[in-house]
Amino acid sequence: MSLNADPLAALAGQEHAVRRLNAIAHDPPQSMVIEGGDADSRVALALYWAMRLNCETGGEPCTRCAPCRQIADLAFNDLLFFDGREGLIKVQSIRDQRGTWGQPPNGEGCRVTIFAEAQMFMTESANALLKSLEEPRPGNVFVLCAPQRERLLETLVSRSWVVTMAWPDVRANDPEIAEWTAALAECWRSGRGWFGRTSAKGAVDKGLAQAVVLGMQRELREAMSGSCVTPVSASLADGYDRKGLRRIGLILDQAQEALNTQVPVNPAMVLDWVATRMS
Ligand SMILES: [Zn+2]
Repeated sequence: MSLNADPLAALAGQEHAVRRLNAIAHDPPQSMVIEGGDADSRVALALYWAMRLNCETGGEPCTRCAPCRQIADLAFNDLLFFDGREGLIKVQSIRDQRGTWGQPPNGEGCRVTIFAEAQMFMTESANALLKSLEEPRPGNVFVLCAPQRERLLETLVSRSWVVTMAWPDVRANDPEIAEWTAALAECWRSGRGWFGRTSAKGAVDKGLAQAVVLGMQRELREAMSGSCVTPVSASLADGYDRKGLRRIGLILDQAQEALNTQVPVNPAMVLDWVATRMS
């Protein structure tokens, strides 16, 4: 995985969250959930936390000492990084590290284990991690990054200190995308009204499919937060319990991943897959 030159650049505008971490750095919680922002800014805040706990200055990250630079390169020997942005996090990869988590860190600071997009845990993997959180692990801290806390198992969240980054500004979709998300929600509800949209030849290109998935993720976020500023988010909040909403989230994440890979995919088929998974 390659990071851009300044891995903390995505923290612009997130000063509030950064201040909150600095305030607790003298006594770091064993487990932290980072929600809000976007995927890149959540990873940036998690790396900031790892630097904050390991920087040679003992204070705010200098970004120049060996630990800071190695953390930026994901090459620090007290950093474990599981990347849910690259697909589901497998249970075996968690089990493989349990021995490591039983040990004190190699250096003077903390061993930091980061799960980027932790909602990409299978339940089994989350339970394996839970076992590790239940035993005290001196010098080991865990960071779970997710779009919002409701996307994670409640048992993980209840053991964690939660920091909320500034949410992306835009909360409602533009009218064209709103039509698609409404059709998708209707198909989930009734099984009707969807396939005519995607079967029209050339109707769906990759850009549109990505925008629809992103738009539905936005609706889901509103539904989960209970604020429901749109009819679609209100209907989701109405039609599904927490578990159902989390399942929708996982399906959208997988669709997004399929659309983001370099392998050519048929964007209409990805959307149809999303439509059929919940109906
Ligand atoms: Zn440093």
